[in-house]
Amino acid sequence: MLRSEQKPFEEILGYLEGEDKVFIVGCDGCAQASQTGGLPQVLEMKERLEGEGKTVSGCSVVDFLCQKALVASRLRPLEDTIMESDSLLALCCGVGVQTVAAMVKKPVHPGCNTINLGGSRGEWQGSERCMECGDCLLEYTGGICPLTVCSKGLRNGPCGGASNGKCEVSPEKPCGWELIYARLKETGRLDVLKTFIPPKDWNKMRPRPEMLSTSMWALEQMDTLREGGTV
Ligand code: SF4
Ligand code: SF4
Repeated sequence: MLRSEQKPFEEILGYLEGEDKVFIVGCDGCAQASQTGGLPQVLEMKERLEGEGKTVSGCSVVDFLCQKALVASRLRPLEDTIMESDSLLALCCGVGVQTVAAMVKKPVHPGCNTINLGGSRGEWQGSERCMECGDCLLEYTGGICPLTVCSKGLRNGPCGGASNGKCEVSPEKPCGWELIYARLKETGRLDVLKTFIPPKDWNKMRPRPEMLSTSMWALEQMDTLREGGTV
């Protein structure tokens, strides 16, 4: 289970500056349980964006946005509408945003922050990972998480140590920032590399005190213990 909360509406509007048509995707898995990306939230976001003069070209709520096969089966019939849109807005956790961005050759804006639930962090088949950092940066990195894909977790570009496209720290892996550069180039968004990402508030990765008394928190701790972890 990955817990998310919607980003402030003004932040989302800022992502859409200069764009007219946006396609909204939601998730009937964790985001639905978090009340951030199920059908009611997708329809509410549609209404709010239209109220700001945006054109919402379409909406789709996929059972699990972290599952590539499901994303493909739901979005492929809508391909023409999606490709005619300027971008997609994904209301889901960081894994869902990354999954959609890996499959659609369009900019994908994150509509949520994934927050720490201190638990087992769910299981999914794809390679995309999220550290539940509480302040999603995927807007600036082509939908590829710099915290999980770069061995040093760099947020403002590469370290310069890559060799033949491989990471300086883990030569068996591609350099995460080369992947980010390639994705931004492919989607015509190299301009976002000029955005300075300020130092991160790592406190946002701590579970929030108010979460500690929720049933969702208790369930996550039970799952973690069952899997042999410590809490
Ligand atoms: S930037 Fe990465 S770790 Fe942070 S919420 Fe987004 S996907 Fe998760
Ligand atoms: S080589 Fe690339 S992935 Fe490895 S630490 Fe440097 S920037 Fe990060």
